[in-house]
Amino acid sequence: LNIYFLVLRIHNYRAQRDLATMAYKDGLTGLNNRRMFTQSARTLQHTARTPAYFLMIDIDDFKKINDVYGHEAGDEVLKKIAEVIARLSGEHLCGRLGGEEFAVIYQGEKQAACAFAAQLVDSVETAFEAERKVSVSIGVAELLKEVDLSHSYRRADESLYLAKKNGKNRYVLNAA
Ligand code: GH3
Ligand code: MG
Ligand code: MG
Repeated sequence: LNIYFLVLRIHNYRAQRDLATMAYKDGLTGLNNRRMFTQSARTLQHTARTPAYFLMIDIDDFKKINDVYGHEAGDEVLKKIAEVIARLSGEHLCGRLGGEEFAVIYQGEKQAACAFAAQLVDSVETAFEAERKVSVSIGVAELLKEVDLSHSYRRADESLYLAKKNGKNRYVLNAA
């Protein structure tokens, strides 16, 4: 009977742990999900000692990748890009906002944030070089500390729109 209860407790523990993981991790890529990313970004608004920058990352022509190679190949592209983002981000907060959109909060000066965005763009292109053409566009905006996160989010999104308009496979800094 003791063994029985022990097994039951282990099962229970695992179930709870898995539920907790599902609540903050994206199932496909293992990155922070939108909720966890947003929550942590809000915390950073209050605790970051340096300036910080919001990077909104969107895969270019992802619909075409799905259409040409299939949804499963699309999922593999998402996973691989998530790996590139996670590897380069290191200690910086990153996550999957949903669909083919990712985000990073880069803690550091403007120059460094832009260099990081440029490196992300290059690294994604290089990671897929041997297989097919895959790229990302990135909108960069300062993480404003005194206002709601949605302001920075919107400004990064505006820059992302410009990056798409200017030809994709690039980053644009919101200078306003
Ligand atoms: P743009 O360069 O302007 O960003 O064009 P796009 O095709 O990347 O953008 P669009 O928003 O038209 O298409 C996004 C596509 O992403 C459509 C949707 O089916 C696909 N998608 C969203 N989530 C997933 C997912 O989890 N897996 C796969 N395979 N596809 C997904
Ligand atoms: Mg998109
Ligand atoms: Mg896209």
